Amino acid sequence: MNEPGQSPPTPDRQSLSADIVCVGFGPAAGGFLTTLSRQLLKADGSPVFESAVAPGLPLQVICYERADDPGFGVSGIVTPARSIRASFPGFDPAQIPMAAPVTGEKIAYLLDPNGASRRSPALRLADALIRAGRWALPFEHQALNLPWVPPFLRKHDGLVLSMGQFMQWVGSQVMGAGTVQLWPSTPVAAPLIENGRVAGVRLLDQGVDRQGRPAAGFLPGMDIRAALTVVGDGPVGAVGRQLDEHFGLPPGNRQHDWAIGMKMVVDLPARTTLAPGTVIHTLGYPEPEIFGFLYVHPGNLASLGIFVPSWFDHPARTAYRYLQHWMLHPYLWRHLEGGTLRSWGAKTLQESGRRGEPHLAGDGYARIGEGSGSTNVLTGSGVDEAWATGVQLAEGVLELLRAGKPFTRENLEAAYVRRRRDSWMEREGRIAENARDGFQRGVVRGLFGMGLAGLTGGRLHWRGRPTPPHRRLPTVEQYYAGKIPAAEIARLRQDCAARGVSLHGALMDRAGWPAIPFDGKLLVSHQDALLRGGKVQAPAGYADHVVFLHPAVCQQCSVRVCIDACSGQAITPGPGGVPAFDREKCVHCGACLWNCSQPSPGSQASANIDFRAGAGGLHSAEN
Ligand SMILES: Cc1cc2nc3c(=O)[nH]c(=O)nc-3n(C[C@H](O)[C@H](O)[C@H](O)COP(=O)(O)OP(=O)(O)OC[C@H]3O[C@@H](n4cnc5c(N)ncnc54)[C@H](O)[C@@H]3O)c2cc1C
Ligand code: SF4
Ligand code: SF4
Repeated sequence: MNEPGQSPPTPDRQSLSADIVCVGFGPAAGGFLTTLSRQLLKADGSPVFESAVAPGLPLQVICYERADDPGFGVSGIVTPARSIRASFPGFDPAQIPMAAPVTGEKIAYLLDPNGASRRSPALRLADALIRAGRWALPFEHQALNLPWVPPFLRKHDGLVLSMGQFMQWVGSQVMGAGTVQLWPSTPVAAPLIENGRVAGVRLLDQGVDRQGRPAAGFLPGMDIRAALTVVGDGPVGAVGRQLDEHFGLPPGNRQHDWAIGMKMVVDLPARTTLAPGTVIHTLGYPEPEIFGFLYVHPGNLASLGIFVPSWFDHPARTAYRYLQHWMLHPYLWRHLEGGTLRSWGAKTLQESGRRGEPHLAGDGYARIGEGSGSTNVLTGSGVDEAWATGVQLAEGVLELLRAGKPFTRENLEAAYVRRRRDSWMEREGRIAENARDGFQRGVVRGLFGMGLAGLTGGRLHWRGRPTPPHRRLPTVEQYYAGKIPAAEIARLRQDCAARGVSLHGALMDRAGWPAIPFDGKLLVSHQDALLRGGKVQAPAGYADHVVFLHPAVCQQCSVRVCIDACSGQAITPGPGGVPAFDREKCVHCGACLWNCSQPSPGSQASANIDFRAGAGGLHSAEN
């Protein structure tokens, strides 16, 4: 027993050995574990490969997932599902709630019904021409239906899925094989890097205060040592980023492009005419830089939302309000009016694609999925590609196991990276590589560049030089130059600070955006969306996973985009000029990582905020 005033003894860090440890359970790990788990036992139940850490037993494979349950992420998606179908011969979408084969695809260019969006002269001219010729065009409800979906964007033969439901189904298949352990609610804090080799992972400490210092019930995160560490932790994964910091990126590669995807799952009104499997993509509104999507599931349900890219240079942007203006566009509202919010969420999309590729393999580790640069930034497809990388790694791992070869960089490159390079994914990733560069120089050039790249197989594209978001953001005064006088912005800023409300909201009101007509069902406040739609959870005893690295930089910062851009309103103005972070509202979207306007001192590449591994977040499998 401790004497009063004496601190309790600190428990030792425990260690566990496995053969393969996997970080994150998204589609990439789904493809990996589905393929691997089927090959570990013979028909008589004896091991195909004997475990090196538990002699006599089959290979010991453990996967740790940060979220409270497999599939508690976010994303209603449409996917060509080539690699997914290949993994499940005879695949029947009816087995998975909310899955539907694609039945129709549309792309619509939304005009601005309010006159408030910031459009370039070229776009205003295009809008005027469309309005003038609307009688002769496929024009309806203030939008132009593009007469044709370019082949590179088509998803026919594909599937509309709820990733939450799909990953729960995959999880049950994987665990049903009886050869893999899947641990949700278990964030991995860091890779164990020893003498240039990854020797496993360290789980997150529990029973700590907000700064990570031991507190009541302290339990140091366990070390899981393994011959192979598979990192599939997604677009902003802390483990993948630590590997990048340690090993660097291959020469010429960089991760500068991101988008926040904010979405809802909506019970459509009973009168809906939208058939399951309908896919609608939009562009042009609420701001020209913002893209939208609406996918229809069976049972009168739809997943819908917007992407706000990092090259949209508004220094005080709030995706939630844009999402509501987008839903209220007459082209969409005719389908949504009378609907009810069922679920809400946000998540980052890594938009550097093939050019953001890290080292795919090293001694003792391999990278899969979006964090490994697999997302195709031309076709807007990430799930099929992530799944494919997992399958390719599993096939490579099985090849090495059969040959009795260790998981060295050289062997993993020959067995995994070679498979990836020889696949459709690499070919399509190369075509997409420069497709979005034009957006660095404006929306019209960006769209034109995408079209060029898509229609010429990547041979032509519009040039542009992506820069990290924090190096391109203007001040609020610069952004609104000629529209809102600097003195008025200063007044708005003071007033918002005094009332504790968003500057972005006030700026939008001033720029002419109408108020949102809240209906308590679908058009609800951001806080209600968090509580009712996101059902956010934050278990006690974990450190803050969002950290303002250099408080002095925050104190001097005049472009506090981290506050307005926070998807969960978890970052607010704090004492002494340093923002405050509320873990209980954080949806783990990772947007703060790239929505900081200042470089971290000593680094031109990273900003003044860190997004570390953390527990909790969205608590809904409907996404
Ligand atoms: C709103 C939105 C819409 C999208 N729409 C489409 C679409 O229509 N079609 C399409 O193909 N793609 C779409 N995407 C992209 C697609 O979702 C991704 O490309 C895909 O999910 C990537 O899979 P992944 O397995 O690599 O990563 P993720 O799906 O991000 O999975 C990574 C997993 O790792 C876990 N994790 C992270 N860090 C840790 C840690 N430290 N410890 C333990 N676990 C950790 C995460 O919780 C997560 O479950 C969309 C994305 C968004 C945000
Ligand atoms: S985190 Fe970045 S954007 Fe936010 S106040 Fe600090 S320096 Fe500014
Ligand atoms: S604090 Fe949380 S909710 Fe806010 S931007 Fe960062 S990760 Fe997203």
